[in-house]
Amino acid sequence: MCLFCKIVNNEIPSNVILEDENFLAFHDINPKAPVHILAIPKVHVDSFDDVKPETMSGFTSFIQKVVKEVKIDKTGYRVITNIGDNGGQEVGHLHFHILGGAKLKWGHFSDADPMNNL
Ligand code: AMP
Repeated sequence: MCLFCKIVNNEIPSNVILEDENFLAFHDINPKAPVHILAIPKVHVDSFDDVKPETMSGFTSFIQKVVKEVKIDKTGYRVITNIGDNGGQEVGHLHFHILGGAKLKWGHFSDADPMNNL
């Protein structure tokens, strides 16, 4: 069973923010911003590459509820999902990073110089 399935099953503790029948949101253990939340589907999906559009419909509404719950909806936030090796995915269970609470910088992709990757 994967790490996030164990969190869903309460085999590994997490700091839950919001939960419904299908989705769970909890604080990232290694936050990269003042607010750093992970939102996951309770049923295992490897990554965004495998998710069904009908799951994304409910997932979108859930994420919108989460950002209201932690009051970053008005100030703005970023939603990211990493996919596979090049995307930097470390946990093989679909998750959206929800980042906010400060003006987020953009430009940490300098390790992937587009001039060397054509
Ligand atoms: P990714 O690199 O996109 O797969 O992101 C995985 C994220 O999971 C990282 O930001 C980790 O800090 C986070 N993470 C790993 N283990 C835990 C855990 N037990 N509880 C909360 N977040 C975790």
